[in-house]
Amino acid sequence: MEENEKKLNFLEEIIEDDLKSGKCASILTRFPPEPNGYLHLGHAKSLCINFGLAQKYGGKTNLRYDDTNPVKEDTEYVDAIKEDISWLGFSWDKELYASDYFDQLYEWAEQLIERGLAYVDDQTQEQMRENRGTVEVPGTDSPWRGRTPEENLRLFREMRDGKYADGEKVLRAKIDMAHPNMLFRDPILYRIKHASHHRTGDKWCIYPMYDYTHGQCDSIEHITHSICTLEFDVHRPLYDWFIKTLDIFPSHQYEFARLNLTYTLMSKRKLLELVQKGYVAGWDDPRMPTLCGVRRRGYTPEALKMFCEKIGVSKRDQLMDIQLLEWCVRQDLNARANRYMVVGEDPIKVVLTNYPEGQVEWFDCPLNPAEPEGASRRVPFSRELYIDRADFMEDAPKKYFRLKPEGEVRLKYTYIIKCEEVVKDAEGKVVELHCTYDPSTRPGGGEWRSVKGTIHWASVPHCREVELRNYDRLFTLADMSQVPEDRDYKDFLNPESLVVSKGYAEPALLDDAGTLAVQFERIGYYFRDKDSTPDRVIFNKTTALKDSYKVE
Ligand code: ATP
Ligand code: MG
Repeated sequence: MEENEKKLNFLEEIIEDDLKSGKCASILTRFPPEPNGYLHLGHAKSLCINFGLAQKYGGKTNLRYDDTNPVKEDTEYVDAIKEDISWLGFSWDKELYASDYFDQLYEWAEQLIERGLAYVDDQTQEQMRENRGTVEVPGTDSPWRGRTPEENLRLFREMRDGKYADGEKVLRAKIDMAHPNMLFRDPILYRIKHASHHRTGDKWCIYPMYDYTHGQCDSIEHITHSICTLEFDVHRPLYDWFIKTLDIFPSHQYEFARLNLTYTLMSKRKLLELVQKGYVAGWDDPRMPTLCGVRRRGYTPEALKMFCEKIGVSKRDQLMDIQLLEWCVRQDLNARANRYMVVGEDPIKVVLTNYPEGQVEWFDCPLNPAEPEGASRRVPFSRELYIDRADFMEDAPKKYFRLKPEGEVRLKYTYIIKCEEVVKDAEGKVVELHCTYDPSTRPGGGEWRSVKGTIHWASVPHCREVELRNYDRLFTLADMSQVPEDRDYKDFLNPESLVVSKGYAEPALLDDAGTLAVQFERIGYYFRDKDSTPDRVIFNKTTALKDSYKVE
């Protein structure tokens, strides 16, 4: 192994072995979302693994919608999923649907019936559950288990033709009601559901179950490595059983640990509930862990990929710290984001008493300090300025290096000013500071003099008011899998997850193309919201500028 070569993860090891041994000539993976919701950060991990492995080994990845449940699925989700995958920068080879294979799956079901390996069961759901047994106790055969293939074929066709109501009958595989793996106790292959499907319309009123569908779809497409999350490991023997019994292309399933993040929920069912009940503004609310949510918040595909690279592929479930994701976002934006100055709500007005009235100077300031020769923006300076209230302190300790009475501070990119007089209103609140500026401290001219503090500012006649949507975590509980039994996960919604405020921005911010989040200097990263209008410009807080989180 070369010195700086990274250790292979277990999936890479398997794939390299398979390519070396000739088990497969090239690899084909698939990403199989159910179109019943929007993709979330967990899916990003799965996408990075499936597409990442294919890219690394010169293979391909299919996008296959796992659309076997007509009731919950919708084309809205189908389209959103494609948009999100493309946004991450991945391109699929073929766009496919489990429903494309309904005819083939049906044919195989008839084949199993003819071979005496499947039967129509009339038991109710309840009876089936009772007769399934437990891990310790073997199940009991259904009274309908002995039906002849002829009878089963006739009944199954009648099921298909709509003769029975939902739940009246099912088709089950005939395997072993005493099998130690409960999933082998005559698993259901088809259920009756009189519902319109988003693609097949009313053609079918019977729909195949997950276990009967997934492996066969993989096999039809010649998927070499079918990668899914750990909870499917008990399904793998059944996956293999169908493929072997039907004697079709031997796809194989491998499992990795799903992504869990602190302060975050990733169950689509719960996310849907948050949307439907109005706890958030929609699937793309910037507090949502959905890809459209984090995109609207200003997270970048680069940051998400960096995060997935860092967390790696493991076989053990763990709770990842969301601060690692935020660190990745900051890392990416710090390198690329344009800088602007924005003063927060309730600013203090600074009047430069020795600055000529009506004079305006335009300072050329780099858009990114990492590239001082790169693009710049022009920032207007005048006699009246706003500064953040937090940057002034009347009774300041010695080590306070921002503005204080008699104190000096540099206004970023411009002059050093000195606070000469504090003006208060009747309640004693500071409303204005009378300061003087030192013309000799203009950067690039005069003699260089330094002071300890530098603060940001905005010119009163030039600045533009913007709306700031400051987001915090959606939940207050770090490990959302630990919601106590007698509580609801919604009890842990953070009431402070959105705080709206105002800001006063240098005018160039409004001309920014808005394709990437920007840095409000000394404040944080913000991303222009899609609901902005010329009269109401909205910025979503992407993440703070820094925190104490350490990345090993
Ligand atoms: P949910 O239970 O929230 O509905 P799901 O697993 O049913 O999620 P699918 O649309 O079926 O969602 O998922 C598509 C793929 O993404 C599957 O291979 C699934 O294993 C994977 N996936 C889903 N959630 C995560 C996660 N948190 N971490 C990693 N992979 C995930
Ligand atoms: Mg699923």
